[in-house]
Amino acid sequence: MAYQIKVNKTKDSRLPGVDFKNIPFGKVFSDHMFEADYIDGAWTNPNIRPVEPLAIHPANLALHYGQSIFEGMKAFADHEGHPVLFRPEMHAKRMNASGARMSMPDIPEELFLQALDALVSLEREWIPTEPGSSLYLRPLMFATDEFIGVAASQTYKFLILALPVGPYYSKPVKLIVEDHFVRAVAGGTGEAKTAGNYAASLLPARLAREKGYDQVMWMDAHEFKYIQEVGTMNLFFVFKDKIVTPATDGAILKGITRNSFIHILNDWGYAVEERPISIDEVADAYREGNLIEIFGSGTAAVASQVSLLTYGALDIHFNESNWDMSFKLKQTLEQIRHGLIEDKFGWVVPIEHPVEMA
Ligand SMILES: *Cc1c(COP(=O)(O)O)cnc(C)c1O
Repeated sequence: MAYQIKVNKTKDSRLPGVDFKNIPFGKVFSDHMFEADYIDGAWTNPNIRPVEPLAIHPANLALHYGQSIFEGMKAFADHEGHPVLFRPEMHAKRMNASGARMSMPDIPEELFLQALDALVSLEREWIPTEPGSSLYLRPLMFATDEFIGVAASQTYKFLILALPVGPYYSKPVKLIVEDHFVRAVAGGTGEAKTAGNYAASLLPARLAREKGYDQVMWMDAHEFKYIQEVGTMNLFFVFKDKIVTPATDGAILKGITRNSFIHILNDWGYAVEERPISIDEVADAYREGNLIEIFGSGTAAVASQVSLLTYGALDIHFNESNWDMSFKLKQTLEQIRHGLIEDKFGWVVPIEHPVEMA
């Protein structure tokens, strides 16, 4: 192993107290986290230790100026119970792409992958075994300089948290086309998984909820005409004669689920059109009876159908009995992840270096 990861194990595991049949998303943390610090131009002191609060100086640069990026990914138990990761190298690359935009240092892919491997290996008993469940992994990097001034930090902390999550029974979502706020513009930070993007989405999301919707559908920042994405999901549009997903033009997060769906659809013989798609094209197809389904793609829900889309005065309702593609894609991706069908794309990476359990 290239990196020596020190392991400080808890003497008091919280595992026995966890009800794996009933896990609220995002609130239950495994016993340990990975940590490394960037000091003097190098990642130092890679270690795994119990999850606990960090001491942060009030002048911490990330708190003031937002140098903070993250990833969201999952570990699964395969059909024999062995821990596996899904496309970890893609997440490593995207973390670095986010970091580059925010003027933050690269995390060597080797360090990122080894850290995941060591943490998931240690926490393997935290991987829920119920169908559809997983261990959600949250890599996070933020500035740690103590300095009041807009400048790139010289020091950073890289953490990985692990959270068991139950099957995400995503009920279909109701969306409203956003016609006032924007999420991202090409040249901005929309392609980066960086903290501020999500803070900026909270007000529009709250206003949409007050009107009875789950989320807004983001439009392009110039004309409010071309569709971008939703929350933390990319979008797919299934028409009678084609499947379209908005092209990643610099303002759209390059989802790894999106990329996986395109590969699977191509493998099934469907050409997926990656291009600008206007809300009027969708509305026209609906009026002509050519719109079958719209769904979001993302690590958390995998695929999430849209049950209502409101565009100005038009309410687009869907005939749920026609939904098919989203279910098939979700099922296929789940089966690949759990080793139940052939992994013909080579996406599933077994955990390699078991850490001795105490
Ligand atoms: C993370 C994220 C997605 C989905 O990416 P996946 O890699 O599929 O999980 C889509 N949009 C935004 C804004 C995101 O943050």
